Amino acid sequence: MEVIFEESAADCTAGHLKAIDGTFVIKDAVLLEFKIKGEVAGKIKTPCDGVVSFGKGLKPGVALSKGQVIATMSECQHDIVIKDMCGDCGKDLREKGGRAGQRKEQATANVSMIHHVPELIVSDSLAKKIGSADETNLITTRKLVLLVDLDQTIIHTSDKPMSADAEKHKDITKYNLHSRVYTTKLRPHTTEFLNKMAAMYEMHIVTYGQRQYAHRIAQILDPDARLFGQRILSRDELFSAQHKTRNLKALFPCGDNLVVIIDDRADVWQYSEALIQIKPYRFFKEVGDINAPKDSKEQMPVQIEDDAHEDRVLEEIERVLTNIHDKYYEKHDLKDADQALLDVKEVIKEERHKVLDGCVIVFSGIVPTGEKLERTDIYRLCVQFGATIVPEVVEEVTHVVGARYGTTKVHQAHRLGKNVVTVQWVYACVEKWMKADEKQFELTKESTPPIKRKFIKRMKKRRRAEEMRNQKAVMRRGKARRESIVRRWMTVKK
Ligand SMILES: [Mg+2]
Ligand SMILES: [Zn+2]
Repeated sequence: MEVIFEESAADCTAGHLKAIDGTFVIKDAVLLEFKIKGEVAGKIKTPCDGVVSFGKGLKPGVALSKGQVIATMSECQHDIVIKDMCGDCGKDLREKGGRAGQRKEQATANVSMIHHVPELIVSDSLAKKIGSADETNLITTRKLVLLVDLDQTIIHTSDKPMSADAEKHKDITKYNLHSRVYTTKLRPHTTEFLNKMAAMYEMHIVTYGQRQYAHRIAQILDPDARLFGQRILSRDELFSAQHKTRNLKALFPCGDNLVVIIDDRADVWQYSEALIQIKPYRFFKEVGDINAPKDSKEQMPVQIEDDAHEDRVLEEIERVLTNIHDKYYEKHDLKDADQALLDVKEVIKEERHKVLDGCVIVFSGIVPTGEKLERTDIYRLCVQFGATIVPEVVEEVTHVVGARYGTTKVHQAHRLGKNVVTVQWVYACVEKWMKADEKQFELTKESTPPIKRKFIKRMKKRRRAEEMRNQKAVMRRGKARRESIVRRWMTVKK
């Protein structure tokens, strides 16, 4: 419905606009004051409830003439909905006696944008508008987004009673939750890490821990809500029980071009290129990840309590994330202003590739026979970090990653003067995003895992014992035969 200017006096101009363009207003609300010869002469009111859009170019001071369209009123599209009630017009959209989500009227709202209020949804177009404003805000403050996992990435939590000496360490907090006692240990360097990152990244917590747990941990990490604010996404708000990826579209409606992730698990992010996978932190013995998604296997070898205090992973990751941030804005500054936003995943990919760039690797005894090499984690890691994998020890090969000393490939590599290392070398490179010193990870007779060595010894012993048994059996049989011949001979003789 159009709102028409009816005044026929000469010299009419617009005064102050009394409503905000694009918002919902009720019937008889004032839209605009108008002036005749510079004096306020009247008010224009809305003829009905609705969303107002003012005519083009309408602002205080412009001339108005009879018959001109001042504004158009349209029905509310319900762009913002909370618990089935429209946030604009206030209409209850739920069917009478219906359950949550059962609406008698369609709403355009369908995106849940606010971490801790999943009931609040907004329309696609509004989400994009907000998302785009968020992006602009990040770029002008020269920040990126960092999604931070909690368990085993920056903390380790135990829900079991603690031995007294565990409490002697610093950065340990004990608290009650759901009538149980929990103990949380911060990974070494966590506080410094988060404080430094806050200057470069807008940080969000994304965890499979329950809401209360997530907020309790946030309180420990960030008592003034300075680092994470209300940006906490817990199990209660995650859309999927297996993948954290599903919420990205809602949180970042304009795309995830600025999003970087740190997590000890790659599967929950569906091996996203934005993920910087972190070696799991384990402080309490015999306790894994208390909030791991169901039916999932653990990743990468975990560390035990004995060397937990030597963990320096966050110092390495701080260097990696600082570098990614700086490289991103270096490139950003070089592009034209009207060019599309750069994707941080490209920067991550490039930086990751530099780590093992130029390495040509052969695996020996690493992948069990019958298993597809391309499907293994170790293959994926090597390729992601820039290495080339080949099947045989040829001229170009730089490294042989071996499980056992004495295989043909290891011998060949030694003859050709190649680096022969254990699989730990790969993990060390991946962990630090830096090529590790080969000498420290050289494959020797001793580096064959002790269990395997014991196993081989036992097998050899067993085989020898079997041979002995066989030999004895042959001898016994021989002896028996001899005896029987002798016996027969004796009887014949008699
Ligand atoms: Mg985790
Ligand atoms: Zn509405």
